[in-house]
Amino acid sequence: MRFRWIAAGLVVLLAVAVGGLALAYPSAAATTCPGCYGLTRVHDGLWSERGLTTAQKDQLTTLAADARRRVAEFYGGRESDPRLVACFTDDCYDRVGGGGEKGIAVLNRAVMLSPRGLDAVIASHEMSHVELHERLDAEVPQWFDEGLAVVVSADPATWANTAPGRATTLPCPRRCRPG
Ligand SMILES: [Zn+2]
Repeated sequence: MRFRWIAAGLVVLLAVAVGGLALAYPSAAATTCPGCYGLTRVHDGLWSERGLTTAQKDQLTTLAADARRRVAEFYGGRESDPRLVACFTDDCYDRVGGGGEKGIAVLNRAVMLSPRGLDAVIASHEMSHVELHERLDAEVPQWFDEGLAVVVSADPATWANTAPGRATTLPCPRRCRPG
């Protein structure tokens, strides 16, 4: 009898711990279990909101393929395969724990794209972070990580600001976490 109470207590503790983690790190929870957050699978490794039009689904599958190609071409193949979670609405992006960024890499396993980041540039930028960290055991300076992501994604917004002979600072157009 006592064992049963201990077991019940452990289950409650575990449930509280899991619930607490989901509250503290909603993006980690949402990218681990997108279905738990009302998302649906659009394609292999690609999740988004329910009720998308065919055109919206095509947009996502095309950008995902393009982003994966950019990463593979730059790195000579891909060692990472982050799950993509893409939102067309702010409501969706809030729900999965997103903020004001266009996109973000989550725990080196997934990439979330906001309604403002639904293109191959943003997707491949964030996927580059995941790919680099998959390949490296050591830490690299964040400026290196960001610079590489800008090159991989062929980000036109950055190259347009670069004038020959003029020092330029490298912007981070998205909120980026190391990793
Ligand atoms: Zn970045």
